[in-house]
Formats: sequence, C-alpha cells, structure tokens
Amino acid sequence: MSSVGFIGLGQMGSPMAANLIKGGHSVKVFDINKEAVQALVSAGASAAATPAEAASDSEFIVTMLPNGALVRSVIFGDQGVTSSMSPSSLLIDMSTIHPFETDALVKDMTAAGFDMMEAPVGRTSVHAIKGELLILAGGTKEQIARAQPLFECMGSETVDAGGAGMGIRVKIINNYMSIALNALSAEAATLSEAIGLDFDTALKVMSGTPAGNGHFKTTWPGKVLAGDLSPAFMLDLAHKDLGIALDLANQVNVPMPCGAASRELYSIARAAGRGRQDWTAVFEQLRVTSGLEAKIK
Ligand code: NAD
Repeated sequence: MSSVGFIGLGQMGSPMAANLIKGGHSVKVFDINKEAVQALVSAGASAAATPAEAASDSEFIVTMLPNGALVRSVIFGDQGVTSSMSPSSLLIDMSTIHPFETDALVKDMTAAGFDMMEAPVGRTSVHAIKGELLILAGGTKEQIARAQPLFECMGSETVDAGGAGMGIRVKIINNYMSIALNALSAEAATLSEAIGLDFDTALKVMSGTPAGNGHFKTTWPGKVLAGDLSPAFMLDLAHKDLGIALDLANQVNVPMPCGAASRELYSIARAAGRGRQDWTAVFEQLRVTSGLEAKIK
C-alpha cells in the first residue's frame, strides 16, 4: 500500500480520497476548505496544513482542483508541492484543465526533475462515491502501471490515452461532444414541442437513426472514414432539409443556434463543390478548411 498526498477535496476529490483510504492507502489531505479536510480526517486521513506538507513523504500526490491556474499554484506556488516532493514520487493531476496548461505543467515538472502524469476522470460525483470513475490516463506505460493500484480504488476502468497530455485531450473531446450535443438535443426537443409533435414519437424515430445514435458509428464508417464520398444521402439534400427545419423554427419562434451554425458548414461544403457528395463530406470539408491535409481525392 502507498502513501498518497491528496489536494482538492470537493465533490469529486472527497469521495476519491475516501476510496483510497478504503483501499488501504495512507492518505494525507489538503484543501483550503477546513471542513472538507475534517471530514476526510474522520474517514481516516491525516491533515496537511499546506500542499508541501501533503506532498512530503508521499509516494503519490493527487490534485483534483477546479482549474489549471490553481493546479499550477498548488504545485509551484508558495509552500507548493515541489518544495517538498521527492523526485522518486509521482504527481497525478486528475482535474479537468486546458490541455495546453497540462503540457506546460508536464514540461516544467520534467525540467525541475519531477515526475508527473495526468489522469482526468469521466462520469460524475455519483460514480466517484462508488469508485466507478472512468480514468483517462495520460502518461508513459510505466507511469500508468505505477498509478494503476490507485486508479483501481477510484475507478472501474482505466483508458491508456496514448501518452502525456492525451488523457486530458480525450477528456476535453469527449466533454465537447457531450456538451454540444446536449444543446443540439435541446433545440430538437423544443422544436418538436413547438410544432405540436409528441416527444416520445420523435424519440422513438430518432433512436433508430443517426439523430439518436450519432454519426461516428452509423454513417461515417462506410463513407467518409472509408474514403468514399459517393452519396448515400446527398449533401445538397441535407442542406435543404436543414433549411426547412430552420425555417419552421423561425416561424414558431424557436431559436436554433446550433442548427444555424451547422447550416453554414453545409453551405461551405456546397460552395466547395461538394453538393453532390455524401453528407458525411462535411467532415472532410472541415478538415480541409482547418488546414489539415485532404485525405479523399
Ligand atoms: P469542487 O469545486 O467541488 O471542488 C474543488 C475543491 O478544490 C474544493 O474543495 C476547493 O476548496 C478546493 N480548492 C480550491 N482552491 C484550492 C487550493 N488553492 N488549494 C487546495 N484546495 C483548493 O469541484 P469538483 O466537482 O470536485 O471538480 C474537481 C475537478 O474535477 C474539476 O476540474 C472538474 O472539472 C472535474 N470533474 C468534475 C466532475 C463532476 O461531476 N463534478 C466530473 C468529472 C471531472
């Protein structure tokens, strides 16, 4: 069993630290919120007065904080982790922060002679309590293997994201998709209600189509991902249908910001001569517009 310094005892960090204690690890905790520290002490942790104290004599240091600036200040600031951390210890940042901040932290930690990886988590505080988080590990194979006994206390699945900085990248991509899709879903459900359509009927239809199942596993594999843009459903027709939906929404006073933005992407693809290609060509178009090399001739 290991010694762990745990910094950041909020909704997520508190149950994660508690699960490390339950797993038999010796846990020293720090948070600016004294009540959160006290609750963990009652659960078997010892209290640290500073991040430095949490890090001293700890084989692992875990940070679970609201943003990148706080993670940096806890690591490099006054009485920070690096003022007492051993070069043989491993710092694991489990917060959700900007990937470029993670890259800079890993670079600065390495330059200072310290070992760091990131392992942000998927799912929610309900899963944190049950020890069923999805651990998105960014680091070397050795770092991940070393941290795995801790991850097993806090989560039910570890994904090796493919190297330093990739854990936070997959976390952000996943959240981007979920968060934007939530807004798009709100538009579809609101329009449905505004035009008098029963939501359950809409749901039933959409659960059998890309609307409910997403495109990555339905339309894309046989088309744009296979390098085939011959039309199964023509981009021009998708543009027309999107236009009808937006006009309908306009007439019943439903704002459709996601839909309106999507139409611009279809318009860009049409202007680039892709109107008679498959609708999945919007992916190839956006890649090219973003300066990435065209994959499909
Ligand atoms: P939270 O706000 O509940 O907890 C943050 C904790 O950090 C608080 O206890 C706060 O007192 C402490 N803190 C702030 N500044 C500090 C400092 N300088 N030193 C020590 N402690 C300090 O947030 P949370 O929900 O536990 O989220 C933590 C991280 O996990 C965030 O990056 C969040 O995006 C991510 N996350 C949250 C969820 C979720 O469902 N809540 C899910 C996945 C990932």
